[in-house]
Amino acid sequence: PFRLSARAQSLKPSATVAVTSRALELRRQGADIISMSVGEPDFDTPPHVRAAAIAAIEAGHTRYTPVGGIPELRSAVSAKFRRENGLAYAPDAVTVTSGGKQALFNALFALLGSGDEVLIPAPYWVSYPEMVALTGAVPVAVPTTPESGFQLDPERLAAAVTPRTRMVILNSPGNPTGAVFPPETLRAVAELAQRCGLVVVTDEIYEHLVYDAEQVSIGTYAPEHTLTINGASKAYAMTGWRIGYAGGPKHVIAAMNALQSQSTSNASSVSQYAALAALEGHEDTARFIAIARAAYRERRDRIVAGLNALGLPTPTPQGAFYVMADTRAVHPDELQAARIILDEAQVAAVPGTDFAAPGQVRLSYATSMENIEEVLRRLDRVVGR
Ligand code: PLP
Repeated sequence: PFRLSARAQSLKPSATVAVTSRALELRRQGADIISMSVGEPDFDTPPHVRAAAIAAIEAGHTRYTPVGGIPELRSAVSAKFRRENGLAYAPDAVTVTSGGKQALFNALFALLGSGDEVLIPAPYWVSYPEMVALTGAVPVAVPTTPESGFQLDPERLAAAVTPRTRMVILNSPGNPTGAVFPPETLRAVAELAQRCGLVVVTDEIYEHLVYDAEQVSIGTYAPEHTLTINGASKAYAMTGWRIGYAGGPKHVIAAMNALQSQSTSNASSVSQYAALAALEGHEDTARFIAIARAAYRERRDRIVAGLNALGLPTPTPQGAFYVMADTRAVHPDELQAARIILDEAQVAAVPGTDFAAPGQVRLSYATSMENIEEVLRRLDRVVGR
């Protein structure tokens, strides 16, 4: 009786699962695996945020909240968009979700239908094409190259537009590439959206993790075409709290809330109060972000220099906490390369297969400098072999 739905069956089995399960198995057997595969900060959630959550529990904020979030948090998100991004989203033009992932999911289900085409710069975060396909729409990859630092060519994007194109998904700073799109690229994409009547969904979840580039929100160029997605996970080291948010046209936000009301309801009440403390613009939050950013930058510089010195060409990413290493010196196929790196160097990294990044492996540097040094020593033995 349990025949899986066509929708469930359509989900692509992840190529990374094989490597991840092997890493777990090796660790269970006692191997000293260093994980460079995780997509989350290695910092703890800042103390003032944790304290706000404890206070919320003690104050009895443990019940259902409005579906789109408590009014205080929606106001704080609205103020944050204005203060940090120059975006004018009124409190009823924002919604709070269980992670940025759910904001994206709700947005795509609110906007897309069968046969719509969605342009996604590649390499991309694996969830974009999968979620788009779940809605019945068609993901269309727009390639970028390591030689350009994975920069998006707006002309290449424009050339991919067809009469069925409805949406562009941007992610800058990007996972897995770390690329940050400069203002001129964003302006060109905004103009394309205006000319062709497209929606831009911009995922700005890594906005605070930018090292030597300018971070601009595309919504400042084409507010009437943009839905902005963000969240607490990466900026405030809050991955487990599950708080994301979005700002956009009120009727779209209302549709997203309707979808959420029939699926998960409000995001965790306690987490909402924690996110409120993070978002209110306290000095403690700014200090935390500055410390994390400085640490990531130092690690990025070390791992990029180290990988290039090993003969694994790696562009310098301008943001997020990932590097894409060309691992063809280990094995021409990235799945095999990731397996060799795991088996022989005991380093877990993600093959580029699912990101549309052939010949490359993603390493996250959201880990200690000691781990990074040890990873480079171990890779030296594999590459030299
Ligand atoms: N967007 C990108 C590009 C990500 O890399 C991630 C997490 O890995 C998310 C969104 C979702 O984060 P969360 O659902 O924890 O807010």
